[in-house]
Amino acid sequence: MKQAPYWWDQAPLSTGLTNFPTAKSDVVIVGSGYTGLCAALVLARGGATVTVIEAGKLGEGASSRNGGMVGPSFHKLGVRGLQAEFGKEKTNEILRESVGFVDFMKQFLKDEAIDADFQQVGRFRGAMSGAHFDAMARELENLQEACDVQGHMVERKDQGRETGSDRFHGGVVYELDGGLHPAKYHAALVQKVKDAGVHLVSETTVLELERLNASMLVKTTRGNVQAREVAICTNGYTGNPFSDLKKRILPLRSALVATAEIPVDVINRLMPKRRMYGDSRRIIAYYRTSPDGKRILFGGRASGYHENTARNVRILRNSMSDIFPELRNIELSHAWSGLVAYTFDHTPHIGNMGGLHFAMGYCGSGVARSSYFGTKLGYKILGKSEEGRTVFDDIPMRGRPLYSGTPWFMPAVLTWHRIADRLGF
Ligand SMILES: Cc1cc2nc3c(=O)[nH]c(=O)nc-3n(C[C@H](O)[C@H](O)[C@H](O)COP(=O)(O)OP(=O)(O)OC[C@H]3O[C@@H](n4cnc5c(N)ncnc54)[C@H](O)[C@@H]3O)c2cc1C
Repeated sequence: MKQAPYWWDQAPLSTGLTNFPTAKSDVVIVGSGYTGLCAALVLARGGATVTVIEAGKLGEGASSRNGGMVGPSFHKLGVRGLQAEFGKEKTNEILRESVGFVDFMKQFLKDEAIDADFQQVGRFRGAMSGAHFDAMARELENLQEACDVQGHMVERKDQGRETGSDRFHGGVVYELDGGLHPAKYHAALVQKVKDAGVHLVSETTVLELERLNASMLVKTTRGNVQAREVAICTNGYTGNPFSDLKKRILPLRSALVATAEIPVDVINRLMPKRRMYGDSRRIIAYYRTSPDGKRILFGGRASGYHENTARNVRILRNSMSDIFPELRNIELSHAWSGLVAYTFDHTPHIGNMGGLHFAMGYCGSGVARSSYFGTKLGYKILGKSEEGRTVFDDIPMRGRPLYSGTPWFMPAVLTWHRIADRLGF
């Protein structure tokens, strides 16, 4: 079994420059994931000189290792939870803009002629109990009222059309969602920003930022570069040089496994419509076929902050065989993990903090969101406030007293969620 993303077999990571071609840049972007590259693309095409600095290889963070699921991603708090946090009017605005993330993504791929195996197949979310099914039906109604999202409930007696699992008490289908090949998408973005003249510097870590009169000195492991504007696009990998942001982010590890190739009749039975899948367990699980339809990719919350492949494989195998018992002993070809960024209000954030531009906190659903937010960030830095405006602009990004960026309480939270899942809450 390879301890690396399945995606890298078809789209290996690339490296960038290992020096700074210019000592000064209009904008320095820290992080070469979707957020950083989408911002860079807008900025370079708008006439700015842009340098992207990446600690690893290009896209080595979450953007080349995620599940590739594309959706509006508004379910974390639920409509009622959002209303409690932001009020009804703001909630509706947030939901309407979120529905648009998928259209944005589709249009972006089309405009840029990016072939990343995108397919709008919809998403099925299975209900683990009758009570969960009822809650899903209420949530769908609320969402339809708030933002007219397309979806439908699937009764237990009909769920064979959606899934080969008999673990569910029915479920819901959201028709807007789709899936793509995350590393192919990232590789295409790398090419786009290179063509636009962006300097991509990889295997170089930003260590410190020093404020000069009207600019910033960005100090790195390979020397310094001076910039008028700096954008922090580090999401789950946000570290000490950006401590104000770090203490507002909960970095959590998410893991995936890929099965070896499975006979097509088995895939046809388990995932007949090749949708994106999830369920109502508290310990998040997400699953899909590979874009070629030959394997199942199964993901979920990993065991802790640090990589522990053996434990993640055990957790994911159990989670997968709970849903699909016939996969209990299936051979796995790949296992990997990466960091996502949660926020205390379960909402992504964009803006400027202490003179640093940033967009982050996608709460585990960042393929479409980070592309959208990165693009908006680019426009903001260019000073194009109309194109850069989003309904998320005025939402303050809050931390918590005594929290400095290490989520020491997460093991206890996860243990509670596992117990709740077992008891069927
Ligand atoms: C296993 C997994 C599965 C996921 N599945 C899905 C999914 O199916 N659907 C979905 O919508 N979302 C999913 N996500 C989330 C999604 O991948 C992320 O939200 C998105 O990729 C974030 O992009 P980004 O550019 O903001 O951050 P990243 O892609 O994480 O990039 C941040 C980069 O910043 C760099 N960096 C950090 N600090 C420094 C520094 N000091 N100097 C230089 N560079 C630095 C890091 O090395 C990293 O490469 C998943 C994430 C993971 C990990």
